[in-house]
Amino acid sequence: MSLTTPYDDNNIFAKILRGEAPAHKVYEDDQTFAFMDIMPMMEGHTLVIPREPAVNMFDLSEDAATTLIRTTRKVAHAVRGAFDPHGVICAQFSGAPAGQTVFHIHFHIIPSWEGVEMNLHARKMQEADVLADHARRITAKLAT
Ligand code: 5GP
Repeated sequence: MSLTTPYDDNNIFAKILRGEAPAHKVYEDDQTFAFMDIMPMMEGHTLVIPREPAVNMFDLSEDAATTLIRTTRKVAHAVRGAFDPHGVICAQFSGAPAGQTVFHIHFHIIPSWEGVEMNLHARKMQEADVLADHARRITAKLAT
């Protein structure tokens, strides 16, 4: 997958946006959508995506980039409020060699705690009830 790979309408995040695949949603608006990562690196690991069909940073429009980072900031505040971490990683990987595995652009929001080792990237599925509980905690903070 190079940085000029065309967008595939059947990627898993496109299916989530169309409601064809399930997700633990925490936030949505006209241009963005946020949900729990199914294989979290830490508890509270959340993903933020644009509705615009872009593969990575290099085919994303400026308008979609603006709303994507605005929602990332908003959700990062809620993740911080819900989990009280020592730090928060906000990360975006463009291209397989950079670590991208799903080819619809997304920001990761990953809480971190001193002395707590992160899970490996995209390795271990979390239980649905745990993800649902974490989504509820973040949604509750977004409502305040
Ligand atoms: P990337 O490697 O592309 O930066 O990140 C893709 C992320 O999507 C990974 O952290 C992975 O755990 C997550 N992921 C992959 N498939 C699914 C899925 O079907 N649902 C959800 N919620 N997350 C997924």
